[in-house]
Amino acid sequence: MTSSYWSPVVRDLAPYVPGEQPRGLDIVKLNTNENPYPPSPRVLEAVRAAADERLRLYPPPEADDLKAVIAAHHGLEIDQVFVGNGSDEVLAHAFFALLNHGRPLLFPDLTYSFYPVYCRLYGIPWREVPLTADYAIDIADYRGDIGGIVIANPNAPTGRALPVSDIEALLASHPGVVVLVDEAYVDFGADSAIGLIARHPNLLVVQTLSKSRALAGLRVGFAAGHRELIEALDRVKNSFNSYPLDRPAIAGAIAAFADEGYFQTQRRRIIASREALVAALSGLGFEVLPSAANFLFARHPQRDGGTLFQALRGQGVLVRHFDRLRTHQFLRITVGTEAQNARLLEVLETLLTEA
Ligand SMILES: *Cc1c(COP(=O)(O)O)cnc(C)c1O
Repeated sequence: MTSSYWSPVVRDLAPYVPGEQPRGLDIVKLNTNENPYPPSPRVLEAVRAAADERLRLYPPPEADDLKAVIAAHHGLEIDQVFVGNGSDEVLAHAFFALLNHGRPLLFPDLTYSFYPVYCRLYGIPWREVPLTADYAIDIADYRGDIGGIVIANPNAPTGRALPVSDIEALLASHPGVVVLVDEAYVDFGADSAIGLIARHPNLLVVQTLSKSRALAGLRVGFAAGHRELIEALDRVKNSFNSYPLDRPAIAGAIAAFADEGYFQTQRRRIIASREALVAALSGLGFEVLPSAANFLFARHPQRDGGTLFQALRGQGVLVRHFDRLRTHQFLRITVGTEAQNARLLEVLETLLTEA
């Protein structure tokens, strides 16, 4: 469909397609990397308490209380933190404000598929750098006259992590451009680059509360970096939407950082389930890439990825399948609860013993 009312920009857009959000409750939903466990009870309490007559008023536009909590948590100053309506929004502002220089932006050929979408939206040229044969990032491949670098660490959909020393080498070899590190999954087993901010003014780290803190529905993400980079994000934000975070979201996010014990327990639980799932899938003959995230990227040497995806779907188990050249034999499987993982394995075992 197109319409003569559409602007030329809209006619050329190729939007991101999120994983399905089915309505049925009996679906085993392992397709969008959500946390299978509820958020901290203290978050729910804080969100409820924030839903009162103050909803009449605009929320604090800079969400300073939340920024102060994030800054303290990561050993930063408040002016080194930016918050937004999910990290997708933070990423969008970063692409527009910091990576938009008319020279190609570099990111891996297999990574978060929102990156090329932002490039098209803002008219940023980009070059996809192929992952190595074993689906890893080789930082030596990131060179040339470029406008910036974007790395998801751990990468999605592969789950593989880069050591912080590699991120530091990238920062040092490209001091003239921003290196954006998207750490959506960092809490499941990678090391954060936030500690490099003091030494590298070209580093922007983006994180989200959607995955490890089980708050995908609340929409809170943040960026950390040198104050000059944060100022650029503020300028874009205040030219777009002054109040990206509502009162319940600010209150819930603050409560999430206050409940460190719950966070640590839940993230360790998911890491343990991931390791058990890797072992079980390997036992069924799957080749599983090493994952530092809350999902696995796996293929079966004798079974077509698309066929397996559809067969699982037919049995009420939803995973993600990317029908592209280097990914179509893989399934991306979110680590679920123990019961969900058991159901996935049971269905896979049946499928693999049939015909
Ligand atoms: C999930 C995800 C995000 C976005 O999360 P929000 O819910 O918008 O905070 C960003 N980057 C990657 C790589 C993701 O997988």
